[in-house]
Amino acid sequence: MHYHQYYPVDVINGPGTRATLFVAGCEHQCPGCYNQATWRLDGGKPFDQAMSDRIINDLNDSRIKRRGLSLSGGDPLHPANVPSVLALVKRVRAECPGKDIWCWTGYLLGELSAAQRELVALLDVLIDGKFERGLADPGLLWRGSSNQQIHDLNAWRESMEERIPCVTLTAAS
Ligand code: SF4
Repeated sequence: MHYHQYYPVDVINGPGTRATLFVAGCEHQCPGCYNQATWRLDGGKPFDQAMSDRIINDLNDSRIKRRGLSLSGGDPLHPANVPSVLALVKRVRAECPGKDIWCWTGYLLGELSAAQRELVALLDVLIDGKFERGLADPGLLWRGSSNQQIHDLNAWRESMEERIPCVTLTAAS
């Protein structure tokens, strides 16, 4: 996987102070996309072990307390990015207790592949859907257009567990 930008301190992409990674690669080609430079999978720089370590260290840095990690792009759920993003998310879960993970994708929650769902099962919030220029609204919080939805995956999991005890998120619907 490649990435385009990493903001070690970010107060724009998600709630609170965060670390934000913009990965490379997006196949949605939304008209009006502000991040066309991130469409190519081989753009930007390789995402290596050192970059993964830096993110983990930043999230655990007590001098600048971050609420969590934001994953954007490009598309973190591009099939080619899923293995690397999944590995990073697993590290955050294992090594950064208490940090939340937000993710932006052009795919729809209800249409994800099994591999994408495995990753999404470890997230706190997913903002899904392509950017629709005709529905763009600069007043929206954390979304570019009103068709995009902010999914609180923890609330969704809790509601599923109430209906079906011991359910795990292996299928989004
Ligand atoms: S999903 Fe996001 S990065 Fe991809 S084309 Fe659409 S607006 Fe651009």
